Amino acid sequence: MVRNRIAALIVATAFAVPAAAQDAKTIIAGASKAMGADTLKTIEYTGSGFDFALGQAPSPTAPWPKFIDKTYTRAVNFETPATRMDRIRLQGENPPHGGGQQPIIGEQRQNQTVIVNATTPWVQQLEIWMTPHGFLRAAAARSATAATQTLGGRKVNVVSFTGDNKAKVNGYISEQNVVEKVETWIDNPVLGDMLFEAVYADYKDVGGVKFPMKIVQRQGGVPILDLTITDVKPNAAVTIQAPAGRGGAPGGGAPPAGQAAATPSEKLADGVYLILGGYASVAVDFRDYIVVIEGPQSEARASAVIAEAKRLIPNKPIRYVVNTHHHFDHSSGLRTFVAEGATIVTHEINKPYYEKTFAMPHTLNPDKLAAAPKKASFETMTGKKVLTDGNRVIELHQLQGSGHNDGLIVAYLPKEKLLIEADAFNPPAQPAAAPPAQVSPYTANLMTTVDRLKLDFERVIPIHYPADNRAVLKAELLRAGGRGN
Ligand SMILES: [Zn+2]
Repeated sequence: MVRNRIAALIVATAFAVPAAAQDAKTIIAGASKAMGADTLKTIEYTGSGFDFALGQAPSPTAPWPKFIDKTYTRAVNFETPATRMDRIRLQGENPPHGGGQQPIIGEQRQNQTVIVNATTPWVQQLEIWMTPHGFLRAAAARSATAATQTLGGRKVNVVSFTGDNKAKVNGYISEQNVVEKVETWIDNPVLGDMLFEAVYADYKDVGGVKFPMKIVQRQGGVPILDLTITDVKPNAAVTIQAPAGRGGAPGGGAPPAGQAAATPSEKLADGVYLILGGYASVAVDFRDYIVVIEGPQSEARASAVIAEAKRLIPNKPIRYVVNTHHHFDHSSGLRTFVAEGATIVTHEINKPYYEKTFAMPHTLNPDKLAAAPKKASFETMTGKKVLTDGNRVIELHQLQGSGHNDGLIVAYLPKEKLLIEADAFNPPAQPAAAPPAQVSPYTANLMTTVDRLKLDFERVIPIHYPADNRAVLKAELLRAGGRGN
């Protein structure tokens, strides 16, 4: 359905009739007047609905997992410019299925603040410029062009300008002079030049300002946000202040662009190294080559891990990278490992997905693989796979029945008594003082596998490593799994 609509749009674009250059200004002015954008300095809107976690699907063929947005409020100051979003999220998949910090027990508060200054990345600013009124402001300030299209028998004007990331931003303006849709493309390490759409419907007049009561955002062709708006306050007294603490997603993130990634490392055992400074990776010294477990986050992080692995284990190539699962935060460095010449070891359900996504264009932010294309090689597994050179042994086991991901695997080093896992147990900042009131079903599933295979380990290496870089001992996992006290 979604795919058909995209195909229809592409066809429509092909037959678009370009309008004269001055028409863009006329169309923008007409829509701005009709929508009340000329006098709109701020807006605050509140609603409820759903959000969907990009790249966190339970399998490569499933849509992004759903969360309930019990309340969602966004304030925008078009003049600063700045925006702040606050929402309360509830678990939306029952039973829990997929990633994105599932399971949410109770309510989860999230907020996001963007205050635009000279260094604010364009993609962050899009939360302002993709709103209907924000689009008109941005289009008026830049050299926009216009064309007409016929969509479903209706004539629409398409106003376009080029964003700071060199991608087109297209706004679809109806005969009623309202912005029905804004689309652009943003770089995603997995999906490349990813389509980002915001669709606006059910416009209402609120004090002379027209605002949509229905907002849907899609990334990669599937929804990431689906809101029904219940309250709109044009020109509200909006105060948007920089957050006091450290922002960003929980569980760490890629270092800011241009900033060198620090990679503190720890020798876990002879020839086995933990690389920190982001998501954890483990480098293992085989006789003729290096095996790296996990290539996460970004090209910057993957490059830092590769450099550190080669420093720790000199004069050997990285032959294999083990991928725990396809979630984007765990697979965003894989392309860099392919460029390095490493074979990807992953569950067999991921191979067709990676073959498809690796072929997608990466023109907005070309990475190493885009600069020097290379065919990826894979070694796949289902239940179990052993990597060995006769001496060194890494056992890979699927966490069968995991709700987190259908192809989730753990690495077990029997001699070194290490268990390396992703997203089955994400330890808290400090060790828990008491057993959890409710055991995460993902952790319970890991315990089932540990029991079934009688895995004998002393230390857990969570890919989402705790910020204090402590050694996570087996007892901490047992407690989280409801076995200890
Ligand atoms: Zn995950």
